[in-house]
Amino acid sequence: MGSPADAAPRAGDLTELDELVTRCTACPRLVAWREEIARVKRAAFRDEEYWGRPIPGFGPHDARIAIVGLAPAAHGANRTGRMFTGDRSGDVLFRALHEVGLASQPHAVSSHDGLTLRDVRITAPVHCAPPANKPTPAERDTCRPWLVRELDLLRPTLRVVVVLGAFGWQALLPVLANAAWQLPRPRPKFGHLAHAELPATDDGAPLHLLGCYHVSQQNTFTGKLTPEMLQEVFTQAKTLAAAD
Ligand code: SF4
Repeated sequence: MGSPADAAPRAGDLTELDELVTRCTACPRLVAWREEIARVKRAAFRDEEYWGRPIPGFGPHDARIAIVGLAPAAHGANRTGRMFTGDRSGDVLFRALHEVGLASQPHAVSSHDGLTLRDVRITAPVHCAPPANKPTPAERDTCRPWLVRELDLLRPTLRVVVVLGAFGWQALLPVLANAAWQLPRPRPKFGHLAHAELPATDDGAPLHLLGCYHVSQQNTFTGKLTPEMLQEVFTQAKTLAAAD
């Protein structure tokens, strides 16, 4: 298949891109980790077959809103094969998306649970579950071309990117610069409800960048991020997406 830098630009559409992503083996440490997790499993899921491969983006190919985290969770998406599906973070995320009309149902337990997204696609700058949820800078950079191409392919409709957490924000900025948008100087800083409008590098539409605290249990259990706060971000994303 070649490296992501070689393969991603050749993907003609998101179906092809997603298929290529799931076959990627460019990061030896992450390949070993995702397969080890899939083999050993967590006791609660011992009867399940883990996905154990890269997780492609999830959602319609003409979405106006993208949600970007950092990387899949070892026993969530790495088990189910779908972004944010099968863990506590996803429970909070999909409930909020359903509340604001962006998801067909509030629950996401497996890739066959019937959930569909409306006008929103969920993806990540790193497509494989990393140890301790921390990809290395080299792994992040190696994976970058997949997201650059994904945003290129979404570009005709994409107007808003909601970024979950500061790590995802830091990883996304170079992706945007490599895709079709200009980064202001100084670079926009992450914060909850931080908002920056990025002009396109050609005559295309600008992109609204919206910050949101990550839906991690650390944030949701402590009340740093409440369901109402999450819904407020997605409501703002819908408003911005509809305005352009
Ligand atoms: S993290 Fe990205 S580049 Fe690395 S193996 Fe997974 S899909 Fe490939």
